[in-house]
Parts: sequence; structure tokens; C-alpha cells
Amino acid sequence: MDQPPTHSPTALLRALLSTIETHVVPLTAAGIAGGSKVFGAAVLSGADLAPLTAATNDERRSPLLHGEVNCIQRFFAQERFPAAELRAPSPAAALASGKGGGEGENPPYPLGSARPSPRACVFLATHEPCCLCLSALAWSGFARVYYLFSYADTRDVFAIPYDIDILQAVFRVPCASSPSLPAISAIGEGSKSKGEGEEGKKGNESENGDERPLYNRTNKFFTARSVAELVAEVDDPEERQVWEKEIARVRGLYDELGERYQRGKREGVGSASFWK
Ligand SMILES: [Zn+2]
Repeated sequence: MDQPPTHSPTALLRALLSTIETHVVPLTAAGIAGGSKVFGAAVLSGADLAPLTAATNDERRSPLLHGEVNCIQRFFAQERFPAAELRAPSPAAALASGKGGGEGENPPYPLGSARPSPRACVFLATHEPCCLCLSALAWSGFARVYYLFSYADTRDVFAIPYDIDILQAVFRVPCASSPSLPAISAIGEGSKSKGEGEEGKKGNESENGDERPLYNRTNKFFTARSVAELVAEVDDPEERQVWEKEIARVRGLYDELGERYQRGKREGVGSASFWK
């Protein structure tokens, strides 16, 4: 079996943040205009961290087309790597072609293509994957998962609480040693103001008033880590500061995207998603 890739924290930070800005944000901007959510994803080569596939949430068509699931579907549908739109120098070309964002043909899922093993790739999610997407990643064989925004960010900064809600309500079974789980109605209280997404820096933060993390971020199928955790691994304090500023800048690219999504929701922009 292919081995999961290993890269230095700085190489990963550079590749992940530039992929978000160059390839994912333009797709997401187009998706939001159609009523889809702000979540995007990409697959990067484990060999050189070049982006191979990028996609954004397409809940306008189906509530299951989360950014990660849409990206996985496209990864298995494409015959050439990187995808054509990622070989083009300008992301505007991808938008003009209608590719990458989920529009277009039914994918053929070609056998025997040049597709690299998911095990040897790096998976990037702009937001910490929900339980649907975590399962999709496990089933698909992706072993290294990184994300920019944590669950707490998604709830507090983007006002979308369902990652935590669904994990709590569907998967967290009470047991004798933990008989009093927090009520679902309590989730979302104590929200922080915009830009204060400090929880992501801790990795296994308590998103829910419970000491236990909501899922195993390190497990036999994959490891899921925030980009903030990568910064903590950079030895040089000055370099850490540079990366913290760069993360803040890329997070800032989502300020307007989040507001536009919420505005569209208020104005009744159509979507197949029940939980908006
Ligand atoms: Zn998801």
C-alpha cells in the first residue's frame, strides 16, 4: 500500500494556503452566488504538493455535495492529473469553463486512469470536515487531511452549527461514565465574535462543553489536523509569526464569502440543502 506523504510544516503551509487562495476561493465565490455554502476542498499530490483537483460545495444541486465529497467525486472522475483547470494559469479560466465547481457532465469514473493513490495524496478542506465528509475520506483512503477553519470557527464565524450538532445528536451515545451530555440547544451558545477562532490552534478543542473531542482526529484511517497546528511545529519563532499572519490573511478571504452566503440565505436564494 502507498505510504502517506510526509512534508515539512512550512512546505505544507505554503502549498495548502496558496491552493486555497488560487484554486478554491474563486470556485467558492461562484458557488455562493448560486446558493451553495462556503466550504471547499482540494487534493494535492503527495510527491510535490501540486494541486490535482479542486472543488467547492454544490448544495444547490444536492445536500450531499459538500466541498469535500464534491472534490472526492471529481478526483475519481478525472482522467488526467492535475485537472485541466488546475493546469491553466488563471483560475478565471476554470470558472469560465464551468469546471471545478460541480457543474456539467455526469462523471464516468474511469478505470485505469493516471489517478494517484489517495493514500499518497494530501487532502485539503477549507473547513474541518463534517461527519459525512470524514466518512467519505475514510472510505476513499485519504490518510492526510488538513483544514483551515475548525468546527468552532464554522459555528462562530460562519454561523453554521451543523457539524457539531449532527455529531452530537446522531453519534454521541450517552454511557455510564458520561451520563449527562450537553443538550443540543446549548450548542452555539457562548459564540465568539468574528475572527476569534482560537480553538483551531489546539486541535482537539472542546467544541461542545464536553472534554472529549467530537471524533478521533488521529485514527487508523487518517489524521486530521488544522493548519494552525502546522505553525506550532515551525521551530523559528519569527517564522511562526509570519505564518500566523499569512493564515490570518487567507482566513480573511472568507469574510466577504461568509457574509454573501448569509445574505443570500436571508434573501431566499435557492438550495437543495435543508440545513442552511
Ligand atoms: Zn461535509
